[in-house]
Amino acid sequence: MKRIIIICGILIGLLSAGDIPFDAYRAFTYLEKQVAFGPRVPGSPGQIICRDWLVEQSKMYADTVIIQHYKAYRPDNKTTVDAYNIIARFNPGNPKRVMLSTHWDTRPISDKDFVYYNTPVPGANDGASGTAVLLELIKHIENIAPDIGVDVVFWDAEDMGIAGNGKYFCQGSQYYAENPILPLAEKGILIDMIGDKDLEIPIEANSMRYAPGLVNEVWDIAKELGYEQVFRKQIGNDIYDDHISLNIKAGIPTIDIIDFHYHYKGKNIWHTPRDLPAHCSPQSLQYIGDVLYTWLSRQ
Ligand SMILES: [Zn+2]
Repeated sequence: MKRIIIICGILIGLLSAGDIPFDAYRAFTYLEKQVAFGPRVPGSPGQIICRDWLVEQSKMYADTVIIQHYKAYRPDNKTTVDAYNIIARFNPGNPKRVMLSTHWDTRPISDKDFVYYNTPVPGANDGASGTAVLLELIKHIENIAPDIGVDVVFWDAEDMGIAGNGKYFCQGSQYYAENPILPLAEKGILIDMIGDKDLEIPIEANSMRYAPGLVNEVWDIAKELGYEQVFRKQIGNDIYDDHISLNIKAGIPTIDIIDFHYHYKGKNIWHTPRDLPAHCSPQSLQYIGDVLYTWLSRQ
C-alpha cells in the first residue's frame, strides 16, 4: 500500500511539475487543418473560418486575445478587404515581454506559376506552417515562461503584394507598428515558411543588421540542440517580411527565421498551387518548435 502511495505521489509530481514537450505531430495536424479550410485570403470565406478558429484556440491558453481589425488593399483585383491580426497575450501588464509572430494569411494568386496564375496558394508552408508551430507553442507558454509577458501574434495580409514591390506586403505588421499594443515587447522572433521538408535556415540578412545579439542567441540554441544542419551559420538573403516594420517603425528588435528556398525535385513550389502539406514535415516543425521552446524558457 505504502509503495502504491509513493508511486502515485511520484506520478502526480511528474505530471504537475513537468511540461509536455513541443508536439510536432499535433502541430502538423494544425497545418493540415488550415489547408483544409481552403485559401485564407483576406476577404475570403476561408479567412473567416480560420480567424475564428485561431481566436478560439488562442483563448484557451492566453490571458487576453485582441483582434486588430483593419482595412487592407488587395492590388491584384484592386479591392479593399477586411484583415485581422490576432494577438494572444500572456501576462498582459508585464513590461518585460517578448513577441513571437507569424503570418496566417495566404496568397491570392500563384504568380510563380504561369499556368495556374489565378489559383490561390494553398499555403501549407507559406502561412500554415508558422501558424501551426505557434498554436502548439501557446499551450506551453504558461509553464515555460511564467514570469514574463509574451505576445503571440498572427499577422494577416502579409502576402497580397505585387512581386518586386514591398508596399502591399506585410500590411498587418505595418498596421501594428502604427497601432501598437502596450506594453511593447522588448524583442521578437518572426517565423515564416518553416515547414519545408528540406529545411535549411541561413541567417536572414536584415535580422543580422537589426538584432545581431538575438540571431546569435537563437543560432546558439539550435547548435546546442544538435540542429546546426538546419540552422546554418551563414548570412543569406535580405527578405522583406513582417520583421521590417517591427524593427524600423515599432522599435522591437526582431529576427526572421525563414527558409526562402522551397523546392521539390529542383522545381520551385513557393507561390504556386503546389504549396501543400506533402512538401512539409512534422520534423521541420519540431526543429523550430524546440528552438523557440528553449529560447522562451530562458527569457
Ligand atoms: Zn508568400
